[in-house]
Amino acid sequence: MISFNIPPFVGNELDYVKQAVDNHKICGDGPFTKKCNKWIEERSGVTRALLTTSGTQALELAAILADIQEGDEVILPSFTFSSTANAFVLRGAKLVFVDIRPDTKNIDEKLIEDAITDRTKVIVAVHYAGVSCEMDEIMRIAGEHNLIVIEDAAQGVTSSYKGRELGSIGDFGCYSFHETKNYSMGEGGAVLVRDPAKADLAEIIREKGTDRSRFLRGQVDKYSWVTMGSSFLPSDMNAAYLYAQLERYQEIYDDRMRTWDTYYREFEALEAAGKVERPVIPADCVHNAHMFYLMTKDLEERTEFIQFLKDNGISAVFHYVPLHSAEAGLKYGRFHGEDRYTTSVSDRLVRLPLYYGLTENDLAYVIEKVKEFYR
Ligand SMILES: *Cc1c(COP(=O)(O)O)cnc(C)c1O
Repeated sequence: MISFNIPPFVGNELDYVKQAVDNHKICGDGPFTKKCNKWIEERSGVTRALLTTSGTQALELAAILADIQEGDEVILPSFTFSSTANAFVLRGAKLVFVDIRPDTKNIDEKLIEDAITDRTKVIVAVHYAGVSCEMDEIMRIAGEHNLIVIEDAAQGVTSSYKGRELGSIGDFGCYSFHETKNYSMGEGGAVLVRDPAKADLAEIIREKGTDRSRFLRGQVDKYSWVTMGSSFLPSDMNAAYLYAQLERYQEIYDDRMRTWDTYYREFEALEAAGKVERPVIPADCVHNAHMFYLMTKDLEERTEFIQFLKDNGISAVFHYVPLHSAEAGLKYGRFHGEDRYTTSVSDRLVRLPLYYGLTENDLAYVIEKVKEFYR
């Protein structure tokens, strides 16, 4: 069976984990966590990047940083992971779902302004498949209406928009290092803070609401409980595992990109014949080959397609079931405007195997079977 995903492993992970153990520093914020934070800060140019225990928790931290209050409204796409929504629901926000664009499957920036009310506080830009939302327009709207922008860049680590790293453009960015993402520590994530005035607050919220980080740097002589917070920091063992991959991220990036480019090239004729649609990467976006998907004609065809691949030993999967029509989505949110693309994209999209180390042979076999199905 060709798996849909195999978590990346580049080679130094276990060595680094052993170093963390030998350092007698296996709790949070040890040397490897600091290296990972610095790696993200240097790449992205944000004031502060802080590892978290998951992408989900990065979003939850960002929602606290955004000071969401009961009844505030948050604009987000419905075609996303439940974590994008939960972070705000946990703070008492009301969700306002907006339709996506048929090309990138990202929130349609042209529909955002109409969904704004006097309760709106945050716009969440989810960069689907590591391909950026139209950030210039989203930032313009946010500026005009005095809103906070949170980037769910869980899939977008090492992707960029007009030369800027995803996660560094909005007020707060959220990364995931889950085993299904490009760079991984099993479970993990990071929150990125652009504004220097919010950097210390992010540290405090992440450290159980205490100013322990300032204390450890000698900036205060005792540490105390400052504000609402939780424990968002991962073990340094996990950070050690991740750092081995960040250090050699280019290898992972290049390997994934080779697979992505091959799929893209090989299915050109199928698209030209009107059988499938391939992903669209706008000129302003550099993506990270997080995902390769095809759009089938309809739900029925997709179901047959996935079954055909499965019968041939290939695991291909569909993706998000729209949040707005899910049980919790109905309870916590509303869809603003017309659902022209969200449900239809959700019905038609299928993701093909793509991971670091997918062999040429397996890749050729998947391509052959996809072509066979459409013959
Ligand atoms: C993976 C993912 C998350 C959650 O990240 P975890 O690390 O699994 O908690 C959130 N949003 C999106 C868009 C994701 O793809």
